[in-house]
Amino acid sequence: MKAGIHYALISSLLLLLSGLSHAADCHAVQAKYGCPADTRFPLHLSFDDGPALQTTDVLDALRREQVPATFFVLAEKIDCGRTLQQCFQANPDTAADGSNCLAYRQCELRRTILHQARQDGHMIGSHSYAHLRYSGLPVELVRSHVSASKRLLEPFFTTEPALFRLPYGDGWFNRKEKAHVLQELARQNFLHVDWQISAFDWDTRNQQDDKILDKVLGQVCSRRYGGIALFHDGVAHQPHQGRLHTTQNMSRWLPMMRCVVEFEPLEYFLQNFKVKPR
Ligand SMILES: [Zn+2]
Repeated sequence: MKAGIHYALISSLLLLLSGLSHAADCHAVQAKYGCPADTRFPLHLSFDDGPALQTTDVLDALRREQVPATFFVLAEKIDCGRTLQQCFQANPDTAADGSNCLAYRQCELRRTILHQARQDGHMIGSHSYAHLRYSGLPVELVRSHVSASKRLLEPFFTTEPALFRLPYGDGWFNRKEKAHVLQELARQNFLHVDWQISAFDWDTRNQQDDKILDKVLGQVCSRRYGGIALFHDGVAHQPHQGRLHTTQNMSRWLPMMRCVVEFEPLEYFLQNFKVKPR
């Protein structure tokens, strides 16, 4: 009995400490980035290149802090039918249901994680089929990849028109010179969504301490404006791998961000689409 009470006390203390560990010292955050104490700048979080195994860590953090986000997904990462075909080609002993093929099981897990993101109320958009620089590719290939991503992601899309973000911002940055890319997106009824603030979390030089948070809050506080922020939950050319420094730190960074930003849904910045009923 005594041991039970002792255990309960320690558990409560640990629970309290784990809660406290995510509490942010807002005075310190505001002072560090030069942000005013009495203003919160609107910000929407977006995550590209997933889904990855570690997207679950991001979803947990967003759920805990009640923060809405948008995920721009690489359709090839949830193309489990193709993965199963590759399993059969690589190993004739592959079971009909793919249960003995690791790549297929991982693909199914990524689909489940994406379902969870949708169920949690986040927006889902296409990051195209593969992570390519589409503006340099023939229009037929752009067309087929955009439409393949539409076919695979249709059950997950959350808006009408569906959202799209081009890899590398390519075709959006040079939208006058390479107009055919955005034209193709419009033809297939996609709305392209860019970003105003980059976390530069793909750059390995930033993947230490709070450098990624510094990039985001530094931009917000110096501009006195938020916008749509670009993070990465996945790694473009690694099917199952998360952008670990981002996925591991998001639960700690969200309360710190909240000292200077107000998290807003995507509709706050883009109003020309309807959210699809679930
Ligand atoms: Zn990307």
